[in-house]
Amino acid sequence: MNDPSIPPLIDRHTHLEGGLDPVWVRREAERRGLGLPASLEALWSGQAQPFEGFIEAFLFGAALLDSREAVREAVLAVARRTKASGGSGFDLWASPHFLVVHRGQISLDAFWRGLEEGLADAETLGLRACVVLDAVNHFGPLHGHSLLNLTLPDLPPFVKGFSTGGLEGCPFRDWAPVFDRARAAGLRIAAHAGENGAGSNVREAILDGGVVRIVHGLRADDATFELLAERRIPVDVCPSSNHALAADVHPHPLPRMLRLGVRCALGTDDPGLIPCDLGSESRAAAMMGLDELALARLRQNGAEDAWCLQD
Ligand SMILES: [Zn+2]
Repeated sequence: MNDPSIPPLIDRHTHLEGGLDPVWVRREAERRGLGLPASLEALWSGQAQPFEGFIEAFLFGAALLDSREAVREAVLAVARRTKASGGSGFDLWASPHFLVVHRGQISLDAFWRGLEEGLADAETLGLRACVVLDAVNHFGPLHGHSLLNLTLPDLPPFVKGFSTGGLEGCPFRDWAPVFDRARAAGLRIAAHAGENGAGSNVREAILDGGVVRIVHGLRADDATFELLAERRIPVDVCPSSNHALAADVHPHPLPRMLRLGVRCALGTDDPGLIPCDLGSESRAAAMMGLDELALARLRQNGAEDAWCLQD
């Protein structure tokens, strides 16, 4: 029986394209006669990679999502991993524009149906889940509008949010009109910020973009952490991913963020590329010196601010 006093454990940030089961990826690559990129093999064996190497590995997996069945399998991989680590749900970032328009490798209808079936599989496993549309920051606001043009006319009810990801190459003030449009359509707004770009991006995402949730936020200064705390803006923190892709940020600011009152919670980010699960992320947080109370706070925040648990 679940103890009602313990909040559900939620994976607060995981990507569809970065969550593939490595066994499935190997099998699919072999079936298609494709060689695995060295960057992917390196990530699987726990070696840090430059961001370009990570992107290469990410794109290799994304290219395999060219059918309804493959998308369903991708969701199921996330669901199984969440379930196996004791989780009760996940907020899933997904990039339909990239797969449907940019790569032209799957129809929007097949993409949505694959997601729908995968989410139904997740529900059968007792999990709650929702989808956050992920736009590529460095492709710029026109790409953001194009993503909205593609998805808003017939948006499935499981899509709850809109986010930017990729390289933090475009100022958030330029993204503001895209965010406004997504917000007007009923979507919540998040942004990857302060990960591969400057810490000041976090402040700009909030003040210029009106973002209500930050992914990573690592490089922000204390004044920005205080702003996040004051505005009760949730921050998704992914220790394994940060260790692999932002190794220069050391020590990890998570303990400092929590001390300053930031509503941090844990996510796995790209566990199909950088092997991890909710258990390993919690252990990584403990290794940063967090006590039981702080770890419980992470879990509590994880549930309270999870979009998959909100209407
Ligand atoms: Zn991410």
